[in-house]
Amino acid sequence: MRSMADRFDDSLRKKISDRLSFYDDLGIRLFYTTRQSALVESSAAFAATSASESSAEVSSPSVHQPVRYEDSPLPKAMPKTKSLKPDVPAPVPATAPPAARTTAYMMPPTKSPAPASVSRRMPASAPPVAAKSNPLPTPSGPSLFEAVNKIAGDTLLKIRDDLGDCKRCKLHQTRTNIVFADGNPKAELVFVGEGPGHDEDVQGLPFVGRAGKLLTQMIEAMGLQRQDVYICNVVKCRPPENRTPEKDEVDACSPFLYRQIESIKPRLICCLGAPAVRTVLGIKEGITKIRGQFYNFGSTKALATVHPAYILRNPREEKILREDFEKIRDFLKGA
Ligand code: SF4
Repeated sequence: MRSMADRFDDSLRKKISDRLSFYDDLGIRLFYTTRQSALVESSAAFAATSASESSAEVSSPSVHQPVRYEDSPLPKAMPKTKSLKPDVPAPVPATAPPAARTTAYMMPPTKSPAPASVSRRMPASAPPVAAKSNPLPTPSGPSLFEAVNKIAGDTLLKIRDDLGDCKRCKLHQTRTNIVFADGNPKAELVFVGEGPGHDEDVQGLPFVGRAGKLLTQMIEAMGLQRQDVYICNVVKCRPPENRTPEKDEVDACSPFLYRQIESIKPRLICCLGAPAVRTVLGIKEGITKIRGQFYNFGSTKALATVHPAYILRNPREEKILREDFEKIRDFLKGA
């Protein structure tokens, strides 16, 4: 049986031979030798095409078809692979204006920005600077209360008798009445104010004016009645024009206050306003700084808060008084 190659005529054989020689010259003989039989046994179309083509057939697609690497279509774009990193928002350009919501919570810019050198000294990861401690002020020394000679068997009635028609300081010259005190002689809570005002001077009772009504409301808000507590002042005569009592006036009158406190022996003394705090506790710090704190006062406790008259002048600060009275209530309940 004749092979496919035997069926080719001599001219075709010569052409194939010449082609192989040409491939040999190109250095690709081995490739086509291994494929010679395939080429020889390929279809007659191959022979016909080969016979009719010129020398440019080296680049013939039909010959190179098995190895058409150049035609192998590469993907035009790498398929997207899912990133292992979590999605992050696109960085905001440095010049981008901040969002309105962020701006609303930003601190207002300072007029004089910190120098760059200062900023570099504070790395972003630096721990926040601890807030400066604000220890509670301590009494500058023993209060006048500590220096008062204790009177054995002292009573409120005896103290009032000793006060008499007092003229120990200049306040007696302008007073209408001595305002000794009001309330329960066995009270657990004693309020100490600054001094009588106009209404108090007229009636001879402490805290009966507008400030007194507010104090009464606060007392009742704690679940107590006015008659359950004891109310008095640092000085017992009204200072002219409701001015702050002067030192000599406080020194002359305060011993009677201390005797009242010592006689009652309350669980808690509430100082209303800075003059009361200075007199009872000897603390000269601002009332807004020390208010709402408990201090030792002999064998009992004392708390400082603002005067009700301050709240009448600053109604928005009423919560201060309410907060401090809540502490008083909790203290008395033993909370
Ligand atoms: S303020 Fe006190 S010390 Fe001065 S006159 Fe009146 S009761 Fe006396």
